[in-house]
Amino acid sequence: MQCPSCQHTDSRVLESRAADSGRSVRRRRECLNCDFRFTTYERVETVPITVVKRNGNRETFNRSKLLHGLLRACEKTGLEPSELETLVDDLELVLQQRAKREVCSNDIGELVLERLKTMSEVAYVRFASVYRQFRSVSDFVATLEGLGEASRAKASPQHLTVVN
Ligand SMILES: [Zn+2]
Repeated sequence: MQCPSCQHTDSRVLESRAADSGRSVRRRRECLNCDFRFTTYERVETVPITVVKRNGNRETFNRSKLLHGLLRACEKTGLEPSELETLVDDLELVLQQRAKREVCSNDIGELVLERLKTMSEVAYVRFASVYRQFRSVSDFVATLEGLGEASRAKASPQHLTVVN
């Protein structure tokens, strides 16, 4: 990636975000030669990702299906549909950047939870209850404890940022 200012070819990635509904990646870069900062948009190579479900069945990752489930689970939690769409975009970006083309449905659920935790506590508990089915009381307690940590971490809001 060439620096627009000095044409040096080495740059440092400061931040990567999904853009264009997950079809491209927006990166903030800093030239290693002159410190000039610039933005690039790179198309994501969209190799289908296979989701391995708990029962061992495999299906192709389907972002609209995930978004649909999230919209339903997060109804009346104060989250905007556009926020959930961004979540799904970022999640897809994370999956696309992995070397493995297979992911457990469990991992997807955990990635979603991790992100929801910083967005809305209500949505987090709601999704956790749908997703994890609260197999036991201790699961429920563990989820609430995790939530306490999330509120403490709220002072420094973190975004799902992929740093290379
Ligand atoms: Zn430069």
